[in-house]
Amino acid sequence: MHAPRLIFHPKDPQQIIAHDLLQQSMWEIGFIAEKLSGHADNSYAAGEHFIELLSFLGCSPVIKMSPQDGDNYCYIEWIDRPVAELICGSQPFQPRCNKCRQLLSDWQTQLNNGSSIQCHECDSQMALEQVNWKQSAGYASQFLIVHNIYLHEAVPGERLLMTLQKLSGNKEWSYFYAI
Ligand SMILES: [Zn+2]
Repeated sequence: MHAPRLIFHPKDPQQIIAHDLLQQSMWEIGFIAEKLSGHADNSYAAGEHFIELLSFLGCSPVIKMSPQDGDNYCYIEWIDRPVAELICGSQPFQPRCNKCRQLLSDWQTQLNNGSSIQCHECDSQMALEQVNWKQSAGYASQFLIVHNIYLHEAVPGERLLMTLQKLSGNKEWSYFYAI
């Protein structure tokens, strides 16, 4: 079972930002600090402005920022996929047709057919990136994962999203939560 995660990705499912650019930019705004050993490649400790950039909700959250704080500390990782992929947690939202609002109840079996889902009610074809997953899944080739953030525990601030958008040639990023 996975720890809870807040996951960012470019809205353009083909887009991948070069790792050195991503690292430099996330470092400059203080979102990441040093590279972490004992983790997958491209895993970084939370930076000095991590908490401000994410805007934590609720009163005085206890955020573990480093391995010295114990297990389940927050850290950042990014992964690339050779082709775009839908990533979701164990309880993804059941999506609806964009046109007729019918529940797309067999979307999971349809994923094997490629990058779109068909509505059996009205026959609409929806690209996976156009489906409204209600922040429970994302379709992309690159994912920036913040580990150990619970659903709606934190939301990304404007500065973080704008920095990612700037890196993408002014294309927007999305985010979702997964467990
Ligand atoms: Zn439909």
